[in-house]
Amino acid sequence: MGSQSQHEHEIEKGHVVLFPFMAKGHTIPLLNLSRIFLAQGLAVTVFTTPANRTFIHQSLPAAANVVHISFPQNIVPGIPAGVESTDKLPSMDLFFSFALSTIHMQPDFERALQTLPRVSFMVSDCFLWWTVDSAAKFGFPRFVFSGFGSYASSLSRVVAVSRLLDGADSDTELVTVTRFPWIKVTKKDFNQSTITDGVQHASSEFMMKTSESTARSYGMIVNSFYELEAVFVECWNTEYLPKAWCVGPFFKLAQDEPHDRDEKAIWIEWLDKKLEEGGRVLYVAFGSQAELSAEQLQEIALGLENSMVHFMWVIRSKSYAPETAAWDIKGFEERVKGRGMVVNEWVDQRRILMHGSVHGFVSHCGWNSVLESICSGVPILAWPIMAEQPLNARFVVEEIKVGLRVETCDGSVKGFVKAEGLEKTVKELMVGDKGEEVRKRVKEFADMADKAVKEGGSSWSTLQLLIDEATLANKNLDNQSGGFERFHSNEKW
Ligand code: UDP
Repeated sequence: MGSQSQHEHEIEKGHVVLFPFMAKGHTIPLLNLSRIFLAQGLAVTVFTTPANRTFIHQSLPAAANVVHISFPQNIVPGIPAGVESTDKLPSMDLFFSFALSTIHMQPDFERALQTLPRVSFMVSDCFLWWTVDSAAKFGFPRFVFSGFGSYASSLSRVVAVSRLLDGADSDTELVTVTRFPWIKVTKKDFNQSTITDGVQHASSEFMMKTSESTARSYGMIVNSFYELEAVFVECWNTEYLPKAWCVGPFFKLAQDEPHDRDEKAIWIEWLDKKLEEGGRVLYVAFGSQAELSAEQLQEIALGLENSMVHFMWVIRSKSYAPETAAWDIKGFEERVKGRGMVVNEWVDQRRILMHGSVHGFVSHCGWNSVLESICSGVPILAWPIMAEQPLNARFVVEEIKVGLRVETCDGSVKGFVKAEGLEKTVKELMVGDKGEEVRKRVKEFADMADKAVKEGGSSWSTLQLLIDEATLANKNLDNQSGGFERFHSNEKW
């Protein structure tokens, strides 16, 4: 089939619009999902902004249609022009204003939609709440992507609806979740306790918009697999809306990703060498957004140095700059030379986790990192920092038991970690009996993930159902008065 008729054939099968939020942890999964839809023979259009263009193009095959629309410039004081993704924000305190400013993209988005071939359905990030209204106007279903796993989604909803934590005396008091009596949570597990007064208003407005528009969506696509968190998927699908569809891990279902970008990366060569020497490496990384203080970085350095394990520490903090740091970074790197490697740039994390030398992961428990570690059979030392990470950490440590928790100095889920606390728990993970137990267990979940994405597996089957239902729902509603405008309206709820 020639490329023109191939394209027409794909449009005929269905045309999906994807609109990822401009944060790496939200964009990466939707790019993987785009590749899944392409492999299923659907036409795909991905929306992004000019500054995110290179990142998006690197991860998508030429068959995907990419549309750039301008990001609102000079709208939020403190966000310089050209900053179009959260990892470039001068401070994460600007996150909510950044996310709220995306509403200014709506006119351009809708103008672009008018020029596209007929859209079957859309998958857009929950942070782009206003896209549900665009879907209603254009008469196609919107699936929301939240980036959360089902444990975090269900637990957050159960706790909010029952106002469970209203009576807690302190941020750290453990309260039993009545719906799931084996789980205990504290106020600190939820974001609210760390939001500073200055951003409280923007945060509340944003939360309301995202939850209201999520409820008005046709469905929720979840980057997870049923077997990993069945109880929580069932809870969501019997008690809440919209229906959750687990079709992950997306990166496993989209198996075609080229891995040649990092071919000559020095960190891969370093890991190869460690593998040859028989060294077991601890991978240390906190995702694309976490902000760690210079004081905290120094404790990490000392803890890693004293632990005597081999380690690779990927550090994206601006505080790790030898010229400005209040501590002797060069001296540290010199002392751990040969045993530890510090990387100060973007890496292919999945490739690192899949490397045979990596035996443990100190992680902030961003959901992507959790999934990537599980699928690589690497146990986690959980060190949550923000967002839903404390819930993900509970899931990893207490629910599926594929990791241990880092020791904080006040015992709380997001407390400061001293060098001794890190050293002790790193040793437990890398050479202790508890580490061996969770290492064995994580491999069982890695096998389950393999099965879920194979033909006939839970994620594979759910994907087929989802595509059938989404394309059929559009056709059925097409001729009814109001179409999706009626579906996405507030009336239904
Ligand atoms: N990531 C990467 N290289 C880096 C930093 C991050 O590939 O140098 C990827 C990582 O593999 C994951 C995503 O970025 O897919 C981060 O998502 P996560 O949910 O773990 O954390 P977030 O950045 O959203 O806090």
